[in-house]
Amino acid sequence: MRVLVVEDERRLALALRHGLTAQGFRVDVAHDGPSGLAQAMDHAYDVVVLDVMLPGLNGYRVCSRLRACGSDVGILMLTAKDGEWDEAEALDTGADDYLSKPFSFVVLVARLKALARRIGSRAPRRTVLGDLVIDSAARTCTRAGTTIPLTPREFAILDHLARRAGEAVSKREILDAIWDNALDSDPNTVEVHVSALRRKIDTPFGRAAVQTVRGAGYRLAADGG
Ligand code: CA
Repeated sequence: MRVLVVEDERRLALALRHGLTAQGFRVDVAHDGPSGLAQAMDHAYDVVVLDVMLPGLNGYRVCSRLRACGSDVGILMLTAKDGEWDEAEALDTGADDYLSKPFSFVVLVARLKALARRIGSRAPRRTVLGDLVIDSAARTCTRAGTTIPLTPREFAILDHLARRAGEAVSKREILDAIWDNALDSDPNTVEVHVSALRRKIDTPFGRAAVQTVRGAGYRLAADGG
């Protein structure tokens, strides 16, 4: 499970990174509102742990902007207990859950796992990478609002890359995930389909979201252009 921690208190952010990594989460950290928002927009996280009091842009605004952009990432807000910030407001802006500081790490992990389970059963799953939107339930892809017709195989490759957005995915893995007869198939077959995918979702828009990672495979990034 991929988690983004947006927290400006460096020691707390570091402790969360270490603790959550030890629990098997893959963790990225941002230290202010604008960079947290940018990271959440450009990568496919399962959950964002979002502090309310942040420099640049507060957690409520980060949350509402993510929702306004169509992101359905799980959001757990860390609220202060002093009453200045209303927990109800966190939920109003589109957060899924909240925890008041100071909180127990064990409780945080339990809430994150529960949230991930709820998100996993929530449909439709949409991945938003810049102006590229991939809707796994409707099996549609749009770029800058334009619907792009894809073959089922092309969509399956794109969807697989989107689930692992920002990471290198090998041709062999794509083959295993999508081809019925993966063992008998040549990984280079994947290249043909990825080329076709690029000609549809990238080239006409002057983008390069589907990137080749030398010796490793492919990576889907927010823009790349
Ligand atoms: Ca803070």
